[in-house]
Amino acid sequence: MKQLQRRGWFRYLTLGLITCLTAIAFAFGAVTAQETPRVFKVATEPTFPPFEMQAEGGEGLEGFDIDLMEAIAAEAGLDVEFVSLPFDGIIPALQSQTVDAAISGITITAERAQSLSFSRPYFKAGLAIAVQEGENNIRSFEDLEGKKIAVQIGTTGAREVAKIEGAQIVTFDSAAIALQELINGKVDAVVNDGPVTLYAIKNAGLQGVKVVGELVTEEFYGIALPKDSPDLEIINGALTNLLATGEYNAIYQNWFAGDPPPLPPVAPALESDAVNALNWGRLFQNLFKGAGVTLMLTFFSFIFGLLGGTLVALALISPYKPLRLICRVYVEFFRGTPMLVQLFMIYFGLPALFRELGLDFSFERLPAAIAALSLNVAAYLAEIMRGGIQSIEKGQWEACESLGMNPIETMRYIIFPQAFRRMLPPLGNEFITLIKDTSLVAVIGFEELFRQGQLMVATTYKAFEIYLAVALVYLLLTTASSFIFKWLERRMDPLKKKTKAVAPPKNITRPQVASQ
Ligand code: GLN
Repeated sequence: MKQLQRRGWFRYLTLGLITCLTAIAFAFGAVTAQETPRVFKVATEPTFPPFEMQAEGGEGLEGFDIDLMEAIAAEAGLDVEFVSLPFDGIIPALQSQTVDAAISGITITAERAQSLSFSRPYFKAGLAIAVQEGENNIRSFEDLEGKKIAVQIGTTGAREVAKIEGAQIVTFDSAAIALQELINGKVDAVVNDGPVTLYAIKNAGLQGVKVVGELVTEEFYGIALPKDSPDLEIINGALTNLLATGEYNAIYQNWFAGDPPPLPPVAPALESDAVNALNWGRLFQNLFKGAGVTLMLTFFSFIFGLLGGTLVALALISPYKPLRLICRVYVEFFRGTPMLVQLFMIYFGLPALFRELGLDFSFERLPAAIAALSLNVAAYLAEIMRGGIQSIEKGQWEACESLGMNPIETMRYIIFPQAFRRMLPPLGNEFITLIKDTSLVAVIGFEELFRQGQLMVATTYKAFEIYLAVALVYLLLTTASSFIFKWLERRMDPLKKKTKAVAPPKNITRPQVASQ
């Protein structure tokens, strides 16, 4: 009995101890949780000064949006962590909730508000038209009819110019590249957020460009959050406090002259109707158009690559050392550097170099893209061809020589046909790689398959469906090419080729195999 009582007492003590320890652990946890604020991931596209840009020393980001977001986070007890994303990737990132919010000079629009939640407006902006300094005929949107205009993909600028009749629109990943196109004289105008273009002209020393007239639209920026995010209230509360205490004004005056204009509690754009439904018919029509451009780019680049690659391969096996050396440097350079860098070097770099040398030279998009792709693919094809030719036994050259054939005949009739058969599988691989690599030229505004997809995502925000459709079209193109190359391989194979069976002459008797 006594033992039983003691056991009961012991049990209560243990239970009590466990409860106390759990309570202490919880309390401690709560304290530490309070001490380390929640990490709040905020997406931004940092090539949009003065709103967001790389800090001068290269460390981190700076800008009006960055300061404002940090002040909001401090007010709301959050630990903000900026995530750099391309502008047209921000909305999909919010939809998939890989980030908690985004601040990137994002205009509050009714279309976007269908897929996102916006904070109250924090900045009044609008679109502006930028033209070259000598241009005096463009003053408004009406004057842009039939003109060549550069815009940033997925922006309100891109949306507005799409309404202009006959305008030829080229889309780039950043506003800075669009302005570079204007300086290079490749487009007549750039339509972009006014404060950004003005800042680039006044503070970043952008030369040869001016902004015409007033802001052509009235827009309000908001902080974007995933649809119905529970953080919306916290962000709005903090923003309202900053506006009331004057802290907002101080941040504003750090980046802009004068007092901030009054901000409405709700953006007027939200009152309009929104249409951004995905139209499958239009999607497939656009993807079909894009696939045509992709195939055209692949085809021409492969043909030029084959021609260039053959010459380089011949040079690589030639007895002339300096020639071999030059071609080796070429091959190593184009194989050893990223295709994207090569493309930028050719499209943006070469005209700049020529300008510095006092020559007026600029590349059109099509020749630049084909030149970059061909130069790159030629380097790979040259190596494939060199390897193929050198894989044919040396003895065959000697045999041909003893038959009185010259080296050109030997190459043409004996070596190359055999080598070509060996080269076919790697050539097929290269062709498939090239189909996929053409997607890189989207960065210079080429509307091939991938870009067509990006453009559709930028207006409908259906990233998954559209990119899946794009991937399937690529798969269709690569599978079809792989079938063609397999067919070619079969055709070139003398063993599988159907030839007429020739009966052995009658007077020849087969040698008997000696049986044991
Ligand atoms: N305000 C414009 C928009 O929301 C452009 C924003 C940007 O390029 N960062 O579309």
